[in-house]
Amino acid sequence: MKRLLYADGHLHTNPVYGLGAEKILSRFRERGGWFAVLVSLGPHHYGLEENYDGFIKSIEILVNECRIARSIGIKTICIAGIHPADIDKLIGRDRHRGREILELIMKVVDYIAKLIKEDILDGFGEIGRPHYKSLPEAFTLNNIVMRYILNLARDLHAYVHLHLETAGFITVRDIYEVIDMIGVDKTKVFLHHLDVATGIEAEKMDLPFTLPGKYALLREAVRRIKPVYIIESDFIDDPKRPGVSSYPWEIIDNQEKLISEGLADEEYIAKINIDNVVKFYGVSSP
Ligand SMILES: [Zn+2]
Repeated sequence: MKRLLYADGHLHTNPVYGLGAEKILSRFRERGGWFAVLVSLGPHHYGLEENYDGFIKSIEILVNECRIARSIGIKTICIAGIHPADIDKLIGRDRHRGREILELIMKVVDYIAKLIKEDILDGFGEIGRPHYKSLPEAFTLNNIVMRYILNLARDLHAYVHLHLETAGFITVRDIYEVIDMIGVDKTKVFLHHLDVATGIEAEKMDLPFTLPGKYALLREAVRRIKPVYIIESDFIDDPKRPGVSSYPWEIIDNQEKLISEGLADEEYIAKINIDNVVKFYGVSSP
């Protein structure tokens, strides 16, 4: 059996409080990892304030983590955004400060756009909407930010990772309409962290998506969804919340388990870990 190679379609690293890119991606590489999308964390993850300087500093940390990942030999896509939960928190502190909060967010987004133009970043993420019950104001503000970013992404030919509620058909239908209206290249907008039911809807509408690499979810996915997606760990590298997402090497273990149990064939696994990465992210195959 030839050694398979694996991609992680969405993860975070935290060099301040967690393991950081060097430790995480060295171990990922040893286990057969070749590609990763590194995604920014909000300022509070690094002990920074949620203001303009805090956001800029957290983006600088991400850029450095991506540099480390590449130096380890991992093909890396580097994206920064403002997480819907951060927007929820900002508006939650004062529901009447919508205008000021939006202005702050747009300033941060414009800075990200500048780094994309300079080829320092590859795209925006994660952005979108909360997946839990939140203030109506948070939903509206997130929608404004999502449209603002999708407009920029269209002009910059940049990638976008959308964090969404997983409501199956209606989530996919809504995003499809927004993408269509804005005219952004739909092969570059990923619906991130979907469940199987929403993944099936995204597959029907031909939208790119990632699925979390948890064993039970993957076992169902390989049975019900064609190999059109990419798997992610969504690792958050927070030692205080160890069980909340998978380690990047665990998603490899889970896929190898499916192969050894005869539930997935090697061709399927190679397609989602190599062919889809090459197709969507335009990187050369390993
Ligand atoms: Zn994430």
